[in-house]
Amino acid sequence: MRTRRKAPPRRNGGRGDQTSGRNTPVFLLSSVVGRLCVLLALLVVRAASASAQEVKDVRAVLQAANKAMGGVGLKTIEYSGAGWFSRIGQTYGLNEDWPKYEVTGYTRAIDYDARWSREDYTRRQGNYPTLGGTPMAQQHVTAILSGTYAWDIQNDMPVALTRPYLDGVAYTDLRQLELALTPHGALRAAMAATNATAITQPIVGASDFGLSQFGRKVTIVSFSLLGKYKMNVTINDQNLVELVDTWFPNPIYGDMDYEMRYTKYKDFGGIQFPTLVHVHQGDPRLNPAHNYYELNITSVKGNVPVQTLPVPDVAKTATMPAVKVESQKLSEGVWLLAGGTHHSMLVEFKDFVAVVEAPVNEARSLAVIAEVNKLAPNKPIRYVVNTHHHFDHAGGLRTYFSQGTTVVTHESNREYYVDILFHPTAWTLQPDRMSIYSPMYMISRRPPPIETVGGDTRATAPYVITDGVRILEVFHVQDMAYELGDNSYRQGNHGQDMLMAYLPKEKILLNADLYSPPAQGAPPAAPTNGMRTLYRNMVKLKLDVDQHVPIHGRVGTNAEFLKIVAPE
Ligand SMILES: [Zn+2]
Ligand SMILES: [Zn+2]
Repeated sequence: MRTRRKAPPRRNGGRGDQTSGRNTPVFLLSSVVGRLCVLLALLVVRAASASAQEVKDVRAVLQAANKAMGGVGLKTIEYSGAGWFSRIGQTYGLNEDWPKYEVTGYTRAIDYDARWSREDYTRRQGNYPTLGGTPMAQQHVTAILSGTYAWDIQNDMPVALTRPYLDGVAYTDLRQLELALTPHGALRAAMAATNATAITQPIVGASDFGLSQFGRKVTIVSFSLLGKYKMNVTINDQNLVELVDTWFPNPIYGDMDYEMRYTKYKDFGGIQFPTLVHVHQGDPRLNPAHNYYELNITSVKGNVPVQTLPVPDVAKTATMPAVKVESQKLSEGVWLLAGGTHHSMLVEFKDFVAVVEAPVNEARSLAVIAEVNKLAPNKPIRYVVNTHHHFDHAGGLRTYFSQGTTVVTHESNREYYVDILFHPTAWTLQPDRMSIYSPMYMISRRPPPIETVGGDTRATAPYVITDGVRILEVFHVQDMAYELGDNSYRQGNHGQDMLMAYLPKEKILLNADLYSPPAQGAPPAAPTNGMRTLYRNMVKLKLDVDQHVPIHGRVGTNAEFLKIVAPE
């Protein structure tokens, strides 16, 4: 209500905007009774509401919201609830939402001044479909932030977090962002920021799930956190925080959206808190829902004692391990490139090489490429085979693509890779080579170098990479759960787009996520639907296999595999 004086002059009676329908009757009625001054004042207010207005006193807006939310003098907060979380980046098919699992007994305790947050919950598969993945085992999770340190607790022991979240952002940064993503934390972070700006605008049309809509005004405050992360806080006309957004670096999406949606507010002893916390992570271009988690909050307590813990040594000394590539010769001209959480396989041809799988992120790709150049000097990497679209298996593809290597993937991924994964949009938070150097892609290299495999490769033919001597075949893995007596679609595969790579002469079969030979000395593995599906595909395709090369874990023999899958 402070800046109405600055409203632009109303020119055409509001024709063409959403408020004109309401203004016109007011005009007619008012002119009859001759209350022109009141009318003009009213029109100015209406005109102002039709477009975004810059907020002059951002601090006053934040203080008003903090007061309404019960945030003044709020030092600690503890809230509990239950709901579901999701496995980000692990969809079965590209157009589906992230696969969900159940979360019970969720409690979060925050001490804002100490910059302490502790989340405790139990996760398990519940009744959510596994979609070809292994069911989420029941596990208690404890996730902690203390100042600039982050760690988990497992079996009463502190655990360092040395692998970045989704192979892109350090947990120390992520959890600091997550503290600022809480309803009251967002206001505190905005008030502490030195660069906050804001606009007030009406949301003209409809919105989902109780967010401001139909002309109700919101104020959106924008500022940066930790020197580089953008954060937006949307405050509704009740002075309640209804959306908080930030973006973090990710090897698939670049700047990846993280959005908290706070609705169904309730008064908990003077503290306003949403009873529905609904969270998005991802990109609506790929996955319109991109639902990360949802909690129904049943209990909120303010200024209760919150027990903090000293920062354990494992968290103090935690460092990201250097990217390591260890090569293992599998056959003449064929190497496993291991040394991390995900492997690649190098296949050497007469005057080029092919790499199967570009997992994790660019740092991994650069290290793998360096090793490839050592093992097969002066041979260009002409092909990179991508087993499936999951984040952890596709996160290194951009590095190859940006130098003109042909990406071999399932046909269902083509459009997604062109539009999102390989899109030359600027990545501001952690720019990769493609983003920084923009190597002529979309100017001089059209069409993009992507070759696709699809359909029933048993009925058609595999995609073949060959120099006339060595042969590398790429097959689409058929989902054969129905042949295993399980009628539910997509229980036997891991991704709709799953490919496997086969070297017929070397009798090597590479698979991702369907079968990883159990660690040496481990008890024999129970067969999974993924293993059965791999086996069924081998039989149908008459693949003669000696060695199983997984993307995770060690190389194993087929005799060992058959023992586990136990065919009669
Ligand atoms: Zn996967
Ligand atoms: Zn995997």
